[in-house]
Amino acid sequence: MSHEQETEPSIFTRIVRREIPATIVYESETVIAFHDIAPKAPVHLLVVPKTQQYANVVELAAGDPGLLADVVAVGRSLAEDPSLMKEFPLGQFRLIFNTGEAVGQTVFHVHAHVMAGNLQEGSLA
Ligand code: ADP
Repeated sequence: MSHEQETEPSIFTRIVRREIPATIVYESETVIAFHDIAPKAPVHLLVVPKTQQYANVVELAAGDPGLLADVVAVGRSLAEDPSLMKEFPLGQFRLIFNTGEAVGQTVFHVHAHVMAGNLQEGSLA
């Protein structure tokens, strides 16, 4: 059995497979984006490589820099969409990759938080 098959599907893989619901705003062969279920800012989207083989952005940058660039480009294009950005300036956004439990990472399938507006008090993402 391959390593891939042994690994439990992450919550984001389950969203890709439509096993659990999400409000999906973008999808390509390699990347999916959806609204964060517990938003910590007025605009809070997640941009996620479909593969769960990279746990965090450091692994993604080392293993597939082109895919990381795609994640950034998707974040930018979502931030240029007036229907997603509400009243906030288009194209201006936070891009946060929590890396490690100590800074609050809870899902070890790399994902970018795309946020606009003030963050909730005390929240890093
Ligand atoms: P944190 O939970 O501290 O933000 P992460 O950086 O690992 O840590 O982010 C995981 C994010 O995934 C959280 O913002 C969380 O609200 C979000 N999330 C968890 N489950 C779902 C889901 N089913 N649909 C959408 N977003 C989700």
